[in-house]
Amino acid sequence: MAREFPLEKYRNIGIIAHIDAGKTTTTERILFYTGKTYRIGSVDEGTTVTDWMVQERERGITIVSAAVTAEWKDYRINLIDTPGHIDFTAEVQRSLRVLDGGVVVFDACQGVEPQSETVWRQADKYNVPRICFINKMDRTGASYTNSIESIRNRLGANPIAMQIPIGSESDFKGVVDILKQKAYYWEDELGIDMVEKEVPEELRAEAISQRDLLVEEIAGLDDELTVRFLEGEELSNEDLIHGLRKAVIAGKCNPCYAGTSLKNKGVQPLLDAVVDLLPSPLDISATKAHQIDDESKEILLHADDNEPVGALVFKIVTDPYVGRLAYFRVYSGTVKQGQMLLNPVKGKKERIGRLIRMYADRRDDVNEVYAGDIAAVLGLKDTFTGDTLCEQHKPFVLESISFPEPVISV
Ligand code: GDP
Repeated sequence: MAREFPLEKYRNIGIIAHIDAGKTTTTERILFYTGKTYRIGSVDEGTTVTDWMVQERERGITIVSAAVTAEWKDYRINLIDTPGHIDFTAEVQRSLRVLDGGVVVFDACQGVEPQSETVWRQADKYNVPRICFINKMDRTGASYTNSIESIRNRLGANPIAMQIPIGSESDFKGVVDILKQKAYYWEDELGIDMVEKEVPEELRAEAISQRDLLVEEIAGLDDELTVRFLEGEELSNEDLIHGLRKAVIAGKCNPCYAGTSLKNKGVQPLLDAVVDLLPSPLDISATKAHQIDDESKEILLHADDNEPVGALVFKIVTDPYVGRLAYFRVYSGTVKQGQMLLNPVKGKKERIGRLIRMYADRRDDVNEVYAGDIAAVLGLKDTFTGDTLCEQHKPFVLESISFPEPVISV
């Protein structure tokens, strides 16, 4: 078996938010638009997104399972669940450890709230590159601009407005993509068809001036682009997105997008931003591990299928249909069904049983899971959350997850 997706086309991401900002709704819409679920609810049959969600729940497949795989434009997106409640701080940290990038959801009426501050600080601690989704743009009092300002002021971040909302509150209809100078509208109830149009007359001047500012801002974030910009070169959108991506991965900025997941508007541009701007496992630095018998002997794990296996179990879930599922991320090597691996901390050998990839609407059995990927395994007896799995001849432990005092803001 070979890889279905090259490693640079993986995005291991989390939807990060405090409770009530719309994390569940946004996740559900992402799974809906990533296509695998279209056949469940069809407009022709008069079913709606909500019906689809109810059906999913009845079938017992949880949409927000520990990790769900989706596909968008030739990219594999593994969505890792990050709990939003403050009580689950340790759990939030554990999930932040396995993801490479995040989408932080804000309520457009509230902007930054105390709990969004907590999750933001945690994501900072784990160097998780982030883009922002200003959700609930349909609500009375919603403001994209004020929300971005609160991200700047309360989080000390560098948010970048990538869009201009078209219409506001109950009249919110679409967005202007500032770089592309195009308008996008959602005219059907499910928001399936994203319609591209010219920027509306009343926003044209603003869109042009914002583009000039945006180009300057992006150019300033990247040394190579700065030089070319100062030499008067006309930078293409591809160059700008490339430079912006480097800046996002380096934690220098947080591009912001507008939408309302409940009313099915704005999710597709957010998915485009996920693949354009968030890192692949190749973009992150090597993962640290240490020898089991000597903590001072550091080992670096590279996202390479041919290296010895290094995997981290980040969540155990008892699934009513299949049993005890251990969700894991492979940092290096290839995990194969039937393989014997070592849990070095417990000193136990484990046989890799069924390997399962979870989609929103199905589970696929796979024979192998490659470096950089996330899946679940059945049959582990002595392995728990936070445990490493590695090859027996070269035991090491992935850097332990520390749980410092949570940062509680007032
Ligand atoms: P979570 O706690 O972050 O997972 O938030 P949910 O997705 O459960 O949403 C919390 C509440 O906000 C629910 O009542 C949703 O229906 C509502 N909600 C989510 N997104 C939107 C939105 O775009 N607009 C409006 N008006 N309500 C929303």
